[in-house]
Amino acid sequence: MFYNPCTDSYGNFKKRYSTYEHAMEVKRHQESCGAHTLRIYRCPNCGYYHLTHT
Ligand SMILES: [Zn+2]
Repeated sequence: MFYNPCTDSYGNFKKRYSTYEHAMEVKRHQESCGAHTLRIYRCPNCGYYHLTHT
């Protein structure tokens, strides 16, 4: 069976990052583009890292 993909509250697929370093790189880039402050967390569902608002 295919694993259950992670979705956000809008039902969109979340981006997954295999390493914390990669997630941090993307976080810095998005914040420098004027995005909200992002938080990195390790997902208990898929085992990858996601970025989330607030
Ligand atoms: Zn996940």
